[in-house]
Amino acid sequence: MTFPLFDLEGRRALVTGSNQGIGYALARGLARHGARIVINGRNPEKVETAAQQLRTEGFDVSAAPFDVTDAKAVADGVAAIEGGEGAIDILINNAGMQFRTPLEDFPIDKWDQMLRTNISSIFYVGQAVARFMIARGEGKIVNIASVQSELARPGIAPYTATKGAVRNLTRGMSTDWARHGLQVNALAPGYFRTPLNQALVDDPKFSAWLETRTPAGRWGDVDELIGAAVFLSSKASSFVTGHMLVVDGGITTSL
Ligand code: NDP
Repeated sequence: MTFPLFDLEGRRALVTGSNQGIGYALARGLARHGARIVINGRNPEKVETAAQQLRTEGFDVSAAPFDVTDAKAVADGVAAIEGGEGAIDILINNAGMQFRTPLEDFPIDKWDQMLRTNISSIFYVGQAVARFMIARGEGKIVNIASVQSELARPGIAPYTATKGAVRNLTRGMSTDWARHGLQVNALAPGYFRTPLNQALVDDPKFSAWLETRTPAGRWGDVDELIGAAVFLSSKASSFVTGHMLVVDGGITTSL
């Protein structure tokens, strides 16, 4: 074992869905621990703007816009990074979507889109990146799950289904790829004020409920996810695989 354990100097991290929200915070957090970053999202201009913003802070950042629900675009995008910038040492499978409505009214096209965005993407990007990592005999994959991997809430049953699947796909990936030197873990955030949660952020009744329901008594700050992400991306977690690390102020462990 070599020290320090949490150093990401020179490691390249692809963070999907990182032009805003949790993905951007994690990209910036990994960069602050020495990683080179590849920013992703669907809109090339938004991706370049986020990448440029991080470059102004002195970080080594490139932009790779592609749609994580398009398997061909994913394969081409990952091959372009590996052949251009270089090896992807860390993959943060973060891109995701939310849509809230009672299950009896849930539109079928939204169900399909949610499955593609929240779970198929993890298989597409995970497989494409893992093939390169397996050839090198090492790699770190962190799949962004949710407290909804464990608990249901009204109006988001399909989201809950996808996030439960993220947890189990993480277990499957870790089981298949551990012998190749890869560690695959999930990071499960509680509630954070991002565009995905805008409707909840704008609803004072929800905040009141959340602050009572959460033992820590508040929303999370996206920067509070960085420590867990760095741990799961670094050699500090070299014998941790198939695990889901929950960062939620205590929601999932309390009634
Ligand atoms: P945001 O909506 O703020 O950001 C989502 C990101 O994903 C954007 O950068 C978006 O970029 C990108 N994205 C969406 N669809 C695609 C796609 N098909 N291809 C490529 N990129 C895509 O969400 P959050 O930051 O809140 O969420 C990030 C992750 O964290 C998600 O997986 C979410 O489920 C999870 N999570 C969030 C929690 C929270 O409290 N916010 C709690 C628990 C889990 P663009 O639209 O420009 O393509």
